[in-house]
Amino acid sequence: MLDAKDAAETIELLEENYPDSHYYLNFKTPIDLLVAAILSAQTKDEIVNRSTPVLFDRYRTAKDYANADLKELEDCVKSVSFAGNKARNIIKACNIIVKDYCGKVPDSMDALLKLPGIGRKTANTILINAYGIVDGIPVDTWVIKISNRTGLSISAKPDLIEEDLKRIVKRKYWRNFAYVMKAHGHAICKSVVPVCSKCFLNGRCRRNGVTRSD
Ligand code: SF4
Repeated sequence: MLDAKDAAETIELLEENYPDSHYYLNFKTPIDLLVAAILSAQTKDEIVNRSTPVLFDRYRTAKDYANADLKELEDCVKSVSFAGNKARNIIKACNIIVKDYCGKVPDSMDALLKLPGIGRKTANTILINAYGIVDGIPVDTWVIKISNRTGLSISAKPDLIEEDLKRIVKRKYWRNFAYVMKAHGHAICKSVVPVCSKCFLNGRCRRNGVTRSD
């Protein structure tokens, strides 16, 4: 792992280079966000954002989703991966939300983690973007990959990576940290062949696991 000084400088450089990073899925309400976040697992954001306008128009509340016909909901989201499974989870989660939370998406980590299709990453995403509650850092595949490569965390487990990051990332950066990492992944630290020769972290980054780079 990087020492505290190198880690702090790495994080500052990432933040400086992607000042406009923000959450990428479109939504207006907490229930929109919960549904979009469930749909986004292993699916590109653009595909989710293309599916959701029709979906959000047809289903507006947790009750609408709880009462949805599985086949119709699945058909609405058929362009995302695992559409059937995700549609099933949305209906189940919304039934719990209607029954236990009067139709309001819960605003606590513990409650969110009890909903089907919601893991810690998605729960953090909902808390941050729907309610402005910033108690954690969403750890997605980009955060895992770039944290490991740079040496910000050497763990492979998202929960442990989040703990490592919460120790070294200033709290003011938690809200957008995952989106900064994603921006770096798209621009330079590409998934298969990172462009290390053009990277502002070159020389400081550990390049863990990088066997080929441009
Ligand atoms: S130096 Fe290479 S591996 Fe490290 S962050 Fe930059 S692009 Fe990624």
